[in-house]
Amino acid sequence: SRPASTYLPPVKLEDRSRSARQSMVGLPIGPVPEGIEGCIGNTPLFKIKSLSEATGCTILAKAEFLNGAGGSPKDRVALNMIKVAEEEGLLTPGQGDTIYEGTVGSTGISLATLARARGYKCHICMPNDQSTEKSDLLHHLGATVERVTPAPITSTQHFVNLARTRAKEHTASAETSSKGFFADQFESTANYRAHFQTTGPEIYQQASGQIDAFVAGAGTGGTISGVAVFLKQEMGMSHDLKVVLADPEGSGLYNKVKHGVMFSNTEREGTRRRQQVDTIVEGIGINRLTENFEAGRELIDDAVKVTDLQALRMARWLVEKDGIFVGSSSAVNCVAAVATAFNMPKGSRVVTILCDSGTRHLSKFWKNVAESGLEEDEQSDLIELLGIK
Ligand code: PMP
Repeated sequence: SRPASTYLPPVKLEDRSRSARQSMVGLPIGPVPEGIEGCIGNTPLFKIKSLSEATGCTILAKAEFLNGAGGSPKDRVALNMIKVAEEEGLLTPGQGDTIYEGTVGSTGISLATLARARGYKCHICMPNDQSTEKSDLLHHLGATVERVTPAPITSTQHFVNLARTRAKEHTASAETSSKGFFADQFESTANYRAHFQTTGPEIYQQASGQIDAFVAGAGTGGTISGVAVFLKQEMGMSHDLKVVLADPEGSGLYNKVKHGVMFSNTEREGTRRRQQVDTIVEGIGINRLTENFEAGRELIDDAVKVTDLQALRMARWLVEKDGIFVGSSSAVNCVAAVATAFNMPKGSRVVTILCDSGTRHLSKFWKNVAESGLEEDEQSDLIELLGIK
């Protein structure tokens, strides 16, 4: 038989001795990461070819699903919230301290992962209408999961309020000297500061400072605020960088950005439920103003409302044309990025976020994508497909 070497390209000696600055695939080689935390951040920014072609602009996506702990931008947030809590003495590793959080999933997954890595327990309260992949994963990571019926934020049974109560109960319990820490991603400014300190600077550097628009949805508002504050500060307020909110159906943020009010005067802020009947999209869209959204709201120039059908069609388009398999909020971001680019001069550079992988959304969003049945002839014109004007 032929020796194995026949099948392999000859190894060039100069390739092996190339200096440690650059790997053969063009990624910088730095020090070996210290634990799973070292795999957070520095995600790639790449051009989505099909969306760029369809709009005549350059659509750049920050691949946040490649964050190496929990697989979403929430890795950055969870790490920062834990570090700040440790500095403030609210958490001490190895003492049985427990991190409590109310989350639709991504933040819980990042917190549960980092809790394991840093020596904490984790207790997650989440609505029971979210995809089961997320709660199953939390179980496997060793977190305690409380799934609750969706309720308005004014209710003590709302998942965020329940997590706060559980943390207080833990700390007050006479049976334990350990602490309960409520991470509070919606109101803790450690959230948007994580994006201000890492996501924003990375985007700016990776795009070589040439950005005409930044488009993102808001769940807590941490991403859009942190990145907007950094970019506007760095590029100067006089630069005409446009920050655009991508908002799914059922969310009040679009109205707030476009018209200054979230609701008609018969509805009170925060009392409306946002649940499955409003949208199939998970993770973004909200009916109250959070600290993290407020931190950057004044810097948001425009908003785009995205329908479920548009999101489903975009998800299908991305996988068919580019091999990009993402979750619902990423699809919403991409629809809004295309709508934004469509109304900008040709050649503009639009940056958006791919939050998490489609593997987190197989049972719900992707099942609907599969059932949405795009016709062959509908797949050639993206702008027509999305009904963008
Ligand atoms: N996408 C997904 C899947 C999420 O879980 C979240 C956070 N809830 C977001 C996007 C929005 O990020 P932020 O909280 O920073 O607004």
